[in-house]
Amino acid sequence: MFLLDQWRKVLSKLQNEVTAVTFDLWINTLTPIQYANDELILMAPSVTAKNQVNQPGIFEKITKCVRQEFTPYTFIRVTEKNEYEETVRRQDAEIDKLMKDSTLKSKFNKKYTFENFVVGKSNQVVCAAMQSVAEQPSFKFNPLFIYGGVGLGKTHLLHAVGNYLSEHNPELNVLYVTCEKFTNDYVESIRNGKEKANLDFREKYRSVDVLMIDDIQFISNKMGIQEEFFHTFNDLYQNNKQIIIASDRSPKDMSALEERLRSRFSSGLIQDIQEPDYETKVAIIKKKCSQEGYLVDEDVVEFIAQKTGTNIREMEGILSKVVFYSSLLGKSHASMDDAREALKDYGETEKTNLDADRIINTVCDFFKVTKEDLIGKKKNKEIVEPRQMCIYLINDMLNIPLTAIGSIFGGRDHTTIMHARDKINKQIKVNPHIKTLVNDIKSRLLKF
Ligand code: ADP
Ligand code: MG
Repeated sequence: MFLLDQWRKVLSKLQNEVTAVTFDLWINTLTPIQYANDELILMAPSVTAKNQVNQPGIFEKITKCVRQEFTPYTFIRVTEKNEYEETVRRQDAEIDKLMKDSTLKSKFNKKYTFENFVVGKSNQVVCAAMQSVAEQPSFKFNPLFIYGGVGLGKTHLLHAVGNYLSEHNPELNVLYVTCEKFTNDYVESIRNGKEKANLDFREKYRSVDVLMIDDIQFISNKMGIQEEFFHTFNDLYQNNKQIIIASDRSPKDMSALEERLRSRFSSGLIQDIQEPDYETKVAIIKKKCSQEGYLVDEDVVEFIAQKTGTNIREMEGILSKVVFYSSLLGKSHASMDDAREALKDYGETEKTNLDADRIINTVCDFFKVTKEDLIGKKKNKEIVEPRQMCIYLINDMLNIPLTAIGSIFGGRDHTTIMHARDKINKQIKVNPHIKTLVNDIKSRLLKF
């Protein structure tokens, strides 16, 4: 209202300065649009009106009256309706573009979201803890320390928290850094003893609402890095800021970790992320396919889940290798033949370290039975089933005659071996539980 009121006062002054015709035809049709930085922008309804108003005689009179009502330094600029709308459109487009660029440059990988994270037995607790922290930072688990082997999804989950917060809590200052980045920033800040750099470092790390440090296992004991981290940690913690840490091992297995940091970490939640089972691996491969638009036969998915170990990054690598191979052949759909061909070399390394002993040990480990029992004569179900499964696996995975398997199993007859094999073979077809068990053991055996 302020601008219009001012403009009305200008108009009443101008009425006495120009002829009634000039006033009614041109001046009274102007609309004040914006007043900023001593510039008043007036919009004329047409190009003719704009030209008329811009004529020296009229323009000067408007300026004079405007300066009396606004400030003595005010300049006026007359624009025309279409011209003005075009400018607005261009500015909007520029803002849009800037926004897009900044989301592209976002610190967080857009693919690593909670939606894209497959939850299974191995990671459900970690995932729930991370989600709870994303929904309510500094509320439940602080610090939250997650650990687990390579390629099990730690970095993915940290980014998922970041993406979630950018969307639901954009005003929060969320910082994700690797331990390496933290270290480099710190080393940089103390180089040459520059006071300002050191202050900048503290400002950067202590002004955040959520600090995520990835791969903390690399924290070194040199140059006071743990010391600095300790202070950063305390400062944030005392101000009720959320801290999330990821590591490939638990704090108690980080030998170089100072005791005081270890005890700080234990004050929150320490949660491990385990190796995915066969089913979760299948679900992850399928998710990846739908995300990337890969078309892959069902048996290829199972084949990859079976052949790969538990490192999901490697599993993704194998999947894209298969898809790439089939696309080289000009196919839109990867078939089992493509998968076998693409993974030819991979299969060879697998055979070299697989033997009956490894299969027996793995089965024993899996079912928690002893090797003596597995090979021996006991007939209770808890032993018979693992034994039959072991026989099936040796027959399926190794090229050994049935009689040889018989002698591994305490000199059993080859028909007994055949019977065991056929039984499991049948069960796999009708009992999904048995199929899963077999696949789980196979995937353990076929790890990279
Ligand atoms: P880490 O940091 O534990 O070494 P990453 O988070 O880098 O592992 O995960 C490796 C790859 O596996 C990433 O591409 C990630 O998206 C994928 N991944 C891991 N776990 C899952 C999961 N549960 N669901 C979907 N993708 C996963
Ligand atoms: Mg990682």
